[in-house]
Amino acid sequence: MGAVDAIKGVGELVKQVHDAELKTEMLKRVIDAQTECAALLEKNAELREELSQTKARLDAATKQTVTREKLTFADDVYYLNDELGYRPICPACFEAKGLTVPLKRRSPGTAPNCPLCRSFFHNAKMQ
Ligand SMILES: [Zn+2]
Repeated sequence: MGAVDAIKGVGELVKQVHDAELKTEMLKRVIDAQTECAALLEKNAELREELSQTKARLDAATKQTVTREKLTFADDVYYLNDELGYRPICPACFEAKGLTVPLKRRSPGTAPNCPLCRSFFHNAKMQ
C-alpha cells in the first residue's frame, strides 16, 4: 500500500468516528498528510529528472574522458588511435563540441580538411 492509499484509508476510517471535535481534528490531519504527500511526490519527480540529467552528463563526460585517453596531439591536430585505426581528428570540433571528426583529403594534393567545420589542416599526416 502506498502512502497515498494509506492516507485515503485513514480518511475512510475517520468517517466512523462519532466525536465531532475529534473527527474534525483527524480530518484536518489527514488533509495535511495528503498535502505533504503530494509535495513529496512532486519533489520526487524533480529529483528523478535531475538524476536522469546528471547520469546523462556523467555518461557524456566519461565517454569524452575515454576518447581523450586515446588521443595524441601533433601536427596541429589530434590523432585518435582506437579499434577503427589511427587517424587525424579535427581539433576545432573536438575542443568546441567533443566530437571526433576524422579529417578527409577531398582530392590528391589538397590539404586534409574537416567535413563538418570545413577547416583545413596542412600539417596533418594522413595514413
Ligand atoms: Zn571540424
